[in-house]
Amino acid sequence: MASLVGTTDNPLRVAIIGSGPSAFYAAEHLQKQRDMTIIIDMFERLPTPFGLVRGGVAPDHQKIKSVTKVYERIAEQPGFRFFGNVTFGKDIVYNDLAERYHAIIYAVGTQTDRRMDIPGEDLPGSHAATEFVGWYNAHPDYHDRTFDLSGKRVAVIGNGNVAMDVIRILARTEDELHSTDIADYALEALSNSGIKTLYLLGRRGPAQGKFTPPELKELQDMAGADIVVSPDEIKLDPLSEKYIQSGEDRAAVRNLELLTHYAQNPTDTKPKKIVMRFLVSPVEVLGTGQVEAIRLVKNEICEKEHMLRPCPTDEFEILPVDLVFRSIGYHGVPLPGVPFNEKTGTIRNDHGRVTDDSGTYRTGEYAVGWIKRGPSGIIGTNKPDAQETVTLLLEDVGAGRLLAPAHSEIESLLAERGIRFVTYDDWRLLDQLEQTWGDAVGRPRVKFYQVEDMLHALADHADILNPQLSS
Ligand code: NAP
Repeated sequence: MASLVGTTDNPLRVAIIGSGPSAFYAAEHLQKQRDMTIIIDMFERLPTPFGLVRGGVAPDHQKIKSVTKVYERIAEQPGFRFFGNVTFGKDIVYNDLAERYHAIIYAVGTQTDRRMDIPGEDLPGSHAATEFVGWYNAHPDYHDRTFDLSGKRVAVIGNGNVAMDVIRILARTEDELHSTDIADYALEALSNSGIKTLYLLGRRGPAQGKFTPPELKELQDMAGADIVVSPDEIKLDPLSEKYIQSGEDRAAVRNLELLTHYAQNPTDTKPKKIVMRFLVSPVEVLGTGQVEAIRLVKNEICEKEHMLRPCPTDEFEILPVDLVFRSIGYHGVPLPGVPFNEKTGTIRNDHGRVTDDSGTYRTGEYAVGWIKRGPSGIIGTNKPDAQETVTLLLEDVGAGRLLAPAHSEIESLLAERGIRFVTYDDWRLLDQLEQTWGDAVGRPRVKFYQVEDMLHALADHADILNPQLSS
């Protein structure tokens, strides 16, 4: 008779798909089960781990990126293995995992952007912020994108923290960017940019910004950009006034204090201007062959279904710009064979247990992070989120609701399929190389941006990874 799942003889085998914060927090919570023996195999389509911490968090936020130290400690625990350069749905499919693991946790994040669905959105010069973010962060999927930064005016659509990241990176000086781990090609392109005026366009008012106060405050410390907020732009309508007066939303109150400070203390000493505009929605991107302007409709705040929403007026404005970035949220991409809700852009799930279209639980399948709840919250939000899912997974282990793996190893399957998977030791070497290149030029690291280069570097250093090869 097979011994209980979770014992030394029969460890609980969990596959985690993705290696961003939610993946690592799920692994961490599993590792906390000291009375169980658990094997965790983390699969990642890139050779590098850490998801949005590496490919999304803005390079001028190095302190936030230092959270990877926590993930490194998780990766060092016994029973943890990293399989980079392995794509779920292509290199391995659900059946491969169901035959080898008791449970699968999907932690793939939300990989695409939301669209504005307005005429002219696809004109050259109109881009998704997600692509720009991937580009400046040396993400292999986006390194070859081109952004014409020769124009003077750029509009960033949206009032979230990603819009803030994009505005800051566009407005930073060469010196400021040099001290970051921004992709070296992006450092060069941005250092030569002609951009002078950066519009940040919010469809709702100053009381409804989704950006957080530290990000708004950071704008005042930019070495090369003044922040411009017109007092007229931050006058509150009665509904927003009531909302702010209630004091419920402390972030909104703080944001408004900061915006009021900016409006009352204008500065005009720096070469670039970040102009914050509110209550405007793009209705068309204009231009012949490339972006020349954006047509905006003026909104007013109205209440619908107990929410303060942007309602269009009949007032329009044409804002001349050379470049547009839409930063209006991310959207999930379905995984082959995994139930997906197109509307929310998330895997169908109930608090992390994957369900089919009729709401029935799918045995042994779980979701964490943005693909579970949608693209919201900060990095730390993923910790309780992952704990919630893993708690249910453990409850299912107790109740015997698990997949029934017949095999116990994945390496031979990957080898059979000719997949050069990247181990955590391989990643450590890539990490070391990036930091060494960075040291040489006084930067935190100089990043790889092509998968082939990473694999070549690993082949070139095979003797370090496999000392017996050189003996
Ligand atoms: P977000 O916070 O949801 O912001 C999206 C913005 O786009 C909102 O201002 C939204 O306005 C606006 N928007 C949506 N549809 C629009 C449309 N059709 N036209 C014009 N505007 C539209 O999303 P995000 O900025 O992508 O950030 C995703 C998550 O990552 C957030 O939780 C964020 O805090 C987090 N993040 C954190 C950091 C950090 O901590 N430093 C950095 C980056 C990202 P409405 O409010 O009116 O819907």
